[in-house]
Amino acid sequence: MLGMMQPWPLTVDRILGHAATRHARREVVTRSLEGPIVRTSYGEVHARAKQVSNLLLDMGVRPGDRVGTLAWNTWRHLEVWYGIMGIGAVCHTLNPRLHPDQICWIINDASDRVIFVDEPFAELLLSRMDRAPSVERVVVLNHDYENLIADQPEDCAWGGFDEETACGLCYTSGTTGDPKGVLYSHRSNFLHTLMCLQPDVIGFSASDVVLPVTPMYHANAWGVAFSAPAVGAKLVLPGARLDGASLHELLESEGVTVSCAVPTVWTGLLQYLDQAGATLTTLKRVAIGGAACPEAIIRGFHDRYGVEVRHLWGMTETSPVATAGAVSPELLARPFEEQLPVRLKQGRAPLFCELKITDDEGRRLPEDGRTFGRLKARGPIVSAGYFKGVAGDILDEEGFFDTGDVATIDPDGVMQITDRAKDVIKSGGEWISSVEVENLAASHPKALLAAVIGVPHPKWDERPLLLVKLRPGETSSREEMLGHLEGRIAKWWTPDEVLFVDDIPLGATGKIDKKAIRAAYADYRLPGT
Ligand code: ADP
Repeated sequence: MLGMMQPWPLTVDRILGHAATRHARREVVTRSLEGPIVRTSYGEVHARAKQVSNLLLDMGVRPGDRVGTLAWNTWRHLEVWYGIMGIGAVCHTLNPRLHPDQICWIINDASDRVIFVDEPFAELLLSRMDRAPSVERVVVLNHDYENLIADQPEDCAWGGFDEETACGLCYTSGTTGDPKGVLYSHRSNFLHTLMCLQPDVIGFSASDVVLPVTPMYHANAWGVAFSAPAVGAKLVLPGARLDGASLHELLESEGVTVSCAVPTVWTGLLQYLDQAGATLTTLKRVAIGGAACPEAIIRGFHDRYGVEVRHLWGMTETSPVATAGAVSPELLARPFEEQLPVRLKQGRAPLFCELKITDDEGRRLPEDGRTFGRLKARGPIVSAGYFKGVAGDILDEEGFFDTGDVATIDPDGVMQITDRAKDVIKSGGEWISSVEVENLAASHPKALLAAVIGVPHPKWDERPLLLVKLRPGETSSREEMLGHLEGRIAKWWTPDEVLFVDDIPLGATGKIDKKAIRAAYADYRLPGT
């Protein structure tokens, strides 16, 4: 017997439609690329997004066609997202931090027909158009865009298609092989929105003011472009200026209450605050993910600024949020110091995401908080395959996707990433978590960034090498750094050598680029080996 409730396909156009009817005057504020602050509202964004839809229809864009965007977080980018998705076309976000040749490769692979581009990236794109034959039109997000949409009607039928319709396309950074396209559906984005809105995940309300530093061009912007309008939260978009001083100015002037970014952004903000002696008067919570959150960030925000850190884990293939830092009610009643070890973990999978850990043969491992294995995920927010079927069947017999991460899960359901499968250091047949060692090293007060890689060793196959970038003006020694680790990790996990470096390379998405570090130290030999 079927239930007797109304069918109502979960398509994301309804989200902005809802914001425009019930929160029409709620602001969307942007630091424009030209500099000045631009203020608009959900009502206006909705009307202009419909103009974008009409423009696309005039250009001959049909449901299922891919339309690219190469842009920072701005109100125009938001209008373009919804304008594309509303008519059943696929919004393909391109990452401007990738190499131009890689961007071209991705445009070709996706067969984008139209691309909306921020002015600073336009030249790069236009100079390579001969290598992107599918692209019929490039719209620059300045007066070009304004002129094109100006005469378009503000009315356009949105939705009316199946909720499984493709909605967004986002390529993984391709740390292994060619980039692969993750194709979100309206339904997956809608359910991911509901998931993110849970108070234990990111949790926005209508009274929140949300600043996603997390770019709209990477990993679905952690769903914020959907979850903020879904509840009528004010949206503050930072444009291209993501340094500590610029972010602080926006956080304060707009009264931001919740913000999301990768750890390196928060390190920059904390550094600025500490140096400038500045304060945070409205910020309540920051969501941190994309890489393991160092203790120094959780402590810094808590101890000095009274801001709570919500640790998130996920990946492009999981929409991307898949777990959120969980502190049990019992632990919440305990002193902060006792909560810290749990806050450093990546947390619990909410409804819509199931996790398991297995050995290399796919056998489930115990969830005892100690045994680590391959982390696998299943649910309506998780990829079932890649765009055009590349990489073939990516699910195991139980329908789980292998995340490429290595993790433990404890009896309370709290997951902790111990490494990426390819970064794990294999010493004498046992695994050392590079992440755990580098987090501890980075928590030394003199350290700004730390990275640990495996280097060849004649007896143990691999041993850990620690690279440390110190805070400006600091000096330190091998003994001081290793002394900081002593007693906190197993003795055999202690790095064999410490190198103080001027810089630690970050990848296109602001994470420590282990691949580049491994390449740079490919010929490195440990002293005495
Ligand atoms: P890529 O960096 O390959 O483009 P994503 O941007 O999708 O891929 O990043 C996903 C990966 O980032 C995860 O598989 C995981 O290794 C890492 N990651 C994300 N969040 C965390 C976290 N909180 N702690 C540790 N690692 C994380």
